[in-house]
Amino acid sequence: MKYQEYPLERTFLAIKPDGVQRKLVGEIIRRFETKGFTLVGLKILNVSRELAEQHYDVHKERPFFAGLVEFITSGPVVAMVWEGEGVVSSARKIIGATNPLAAEPGTIRGDFGINIGRNLIHGSDAIETAQREIALWFKEEEIANWEPTLMAWTR
Ligand code: ADP
Ligand code: MG
Repeated sequence: MKYQEYPLERTFLAIKPDGVQRKLVGEIIRRFETKGFTLVGLKILNVSRELAEQHYDVHKERPFFAGLVEFITSGPVVAMVWEGEGVVSSARKIIGATNPLAAEPGTIRGDFGINIGRNLIHGSDAIETAQREIALWFKEEEIANWEPTLMAWTR
């Protein structure tokens, strides 16, 4: 199929404050790039309480919610949009299980973490969630279009 004859799947990923402070941004981005996915949105920001609460709205009744919001707003976060066939579920596999102690070696959480509250990275859990999260974190004009001449075969 030719470029953009069908809509490419997108996911929202965010490197949490622990990943940024531990200088793992390049290492984490590299894993998605070398897999073959395409980076179309990227920014570093200090997250407001409002954005954090909206992002984690589904967890608002959970006992860890307040601590989670506190943590996500504690330092810079790298927010990203990645594109490619199957990117939502594939990114979740690359990230690994929620609890880093249970995450397989070779995954991001499995390789770099031990603490469930400091698990380095967020990834959307479904296509609909990804659409909601991308709209929450990014403006339309902050998302790039790759030109066909720059396309890698993996796209
Ligand atoms: P995931 O990030 O793998 O999708 P969840 O959506 O279940 O995981 O939870 C969102 C985030 O909340 C997790 O990434 C983690 O940082 C935090 N969290 C989840 N469960 C716990 C817990 N039991 N204690 C502390 N923090 C938790
Ligand atoms: Mg989740």
